[in-house]
Amino acid sequence: MTNIRFDAISKSYQRERITIEEKGRRSELFAVNVFNKERMLQYLTKDALESVESAMFSGSKIDRKIADQVAESMKAWAITMGATHYTHWFQPLTGATAEKHDAFFDLLPDGRALEKFGGGQLVQQEPDASSFPSGGIRNTFEARGYTAWDPTSPAFIYGTTLCIPTIFVSYTGEALDNKAPLLRALNAVDEAATAVAKYFDKNVSKVSATLGWEQEYFLLDKALAFSRPDIVMTGRTLIGNKAAKGQQLDDHYFGVIPDRVLSFMSDLEKECTKLGIPVKTRHNEVAPNQFELAPIFEEANLAVDHNLLLMDVMDKIADKHSFKVLFHEKPFAGINGSGKHNNWSLATNTGVNLLSPGSTPMKNLQFLTFFINTIKAVDNYEELMRSSIASASNDHRLGANEAPPAIFSIFVGSQLSNVLDELEGVSKGKLSPQEKTQLKLNVVGKIPEILLDNTDRNRTSPFAFTGNKFEMRGVGAKTNCAKPMTVLNTIVAKQLQDFKKEVDVLIDKKSLKKDEAVFNVLREYIKTSKRIRFDGDGYSKEWENEAVRRKLSNNKNTPSALQIMTAKESIALFKSMKVMSEVEIAARKEVDLETYIFQIQIEGRVYNELVYSYIIPTAIDYQNELIKNVMGLKDIYGAAHKKLSDGQLSIIEQIAEHIVALKKLTDLMIDARRSANSLKDVNKKAFAYCDNVKPYFDQIRSHCDRLERLMDDRLWPLTKYRELLFQK
Ligand code: ADP
Ligand code: MG
Repeated sequence: MTNIRFDAISKSYQRERITIEEKGRRSELFAVNVFNKERMLQYLTKDALESVESAMFSGSKIDRKIADQVAESMKAWAITMGATHYTHWFQPLTGATAEKHDAFFDLLPDGRALEKFGGGQLVQQEPDASSFPSGGIRNTFEARGYTAWDPTSPAFIYGTTLCIPTIFVSYTGEALDNKAPLLRALNAVDEAATAVAKYFDKNVSKVSATLGWEQEYFLLDKALAFSRPDIVMTGRTLIGNKAAKGQQLDDHYFGVIPDRVLSFMSDLEKECTKLGIPVKTRHNEVAPNQFELAPIFEEANLAVDHNLLLMDVMDKIADKHSFKVLFHEKPFAGINGSGKHNNWSLATNTGVNLLSPGSTPMKNLQFLTFFINTIKAVDNYEELMRSSIASASNDHRLGANEAPPAIFSIFVGSQLSNVLDELEGVSKGKLSPQEKTQLKLNVVGKIPEILLDNTDRNRTSPFAFTGNKFEMRGVGAKTNCAKPMTVLNTIVAKQLQDFKKEVDVLIDKKSLKKDEAVFNVLREYIKTSKRIRFDGDGYSKEWENEAVRRKLSNNKNTPSALQIMTAKESIALFKSMKVMSEVEIAARKEVDLETYIFQIQIEGRVYNELVYSYIIPTAIDYQNELIKNVMGLKDIYGAAHKKLSDGQLSIIEQIAEHIVALKKLTDLMIDARRSANSLKDVNKKAFAYCDNVKPYFDQIRSHCDRLERLMDDRLWPLTKYRELLFQK
């Protein structure tokens, strides 16, 4: 019998020796493959440059003549860089990116060949995209989908292809992707935040959301990873006995990066640098063979594109180094899974971070305004925030004592809690001059500048203030950041809009001074949003109980978490902020539910295969060997054999029990899948998969893992945790 496991292990030792090569200054390589401002200055006429810049700054339309010019210049530059093809690069609701390459090459009617790429091809395309999920949008309206140029994210060359970031919409304008709603949300937060920022500085004319993500991932030896059908099919191990050693010694975290991994990382960083992704930090994470990469933060839309591009680049570079990279949120039981913290803030065109405490009372009042409005926004829409990070794979992490719970709360730290408590005590209406002075000097004026080093103490919080930004920690490693960023920026936009209305009423109708009005409204917000603030241990059982008292949601699985998307208040929110229509929201929910169903269904099928084609046959082989052995002993020793074959007989029986249980559970799981599949309603089907199919997985796993512990290592058909996780 050939054993794929030993085949894989021997392959993994045959790989080439890797040498580490990290030459040259990164700054010289930065963005050489990007059609950014520097290239535009070089290639575009003044008119065209102005037009593109105005489209980037204020979203104005670029006229067709200018688009032709831009396309011509892009093509000229791309060809000098060795590009032969171009593609509209977009983000369908699959969560990944999509591309369809066209050659620049074209033929004239007289048969002459030329390189062609005009404004038409730059601005809009109609990919044959009927197989992308649309949540029914394209069935009910029009089959066609269009991609349209997003000039706010610069085109780049990837391999030999010029990639043009685009949105993907239906014929009737509904978003079929993750980028279009994100751009609308960013626009909404820009408008609302700019209006509020003007209270403090008239020169502010634009506010951009900023995003700095931190990407966690696992790196496995490629041959070993591919020897496991579960990793290949689902991105995670569905079974596998835990290795004797996991992460208990904390010897991997921030440890010395192994040579082979370092070589991968430096190649990766070089490629990212050329693509304009400002990667900055790299380190070992908590679990064995787990790592993290983080860039310098950027404008949110660009940061989202860069994260998606990064995941793709990682796949390719890993392959070159005979690695397989895993972005799954929980590839291995018993050790940490991977997430993607999203650090978020708001920045003005005047260079100010609106969530950074300042050196004057006025700046601090501005800080408090944005800080408290964010808290209020999350309090109002905590359940929607949870829904934005829901997926079958992330369900394993949230609330499993390694990532924040599924309950949304905000950590602000004791210093800022004190400031909020003092502000809450301010009297209503007009303030006396003494009160104002006291407030400005002793409360607002005293927000310490050392905050930055003092806040980031609570790793159990899903939404923590970390000195000059909020950090959203429940985002899954695979998740497209556009989803949480769309929700967060929309709810903050809505909140800032409401805030401005309330402040203006106090100024106009109650003739309060601006700062008095701001204080008055903020004080109310502090009171009404208290339940969302929690500085304690988010992993504790007490918090779960406390959250029930506070009426905070605690949706532990994806189907439950997604329900809020189509609640009346969510639809009203997205509609009023012009981020999504009711049709678009319903479509998204449906796509997310379907994705959930498919993922659980695929896992269920792989369990079938593992149990029937790998585990049971192997268990029978080993059992047969033991039976032969016992019979041999009986032949030789006769009745006296009993004493000698006690151990074997007990193992034979245990194996038999596991086989019986495995067969029974797997068949029950298949039945449950069958009856889930017969449901037409996607909601019901998702719940059926969640409540009736998925619960079998852990039970099946437990029998497989016990068999792994019982059996001869030489027969075990699957590469073990010890081999997958400690291979360097
Ligand atoms: P960790 O969470 O690993 O301790 P940090 O808290 O230092 O790391 O997070 C650093 C991350 O925060 C980086 O990815 C950085 O780009 C990002 N970041 C810093 N300032 C901002 C900001 N104003 N807006 C968005 N992201 C930011
Ligand atoms: Mg972090």
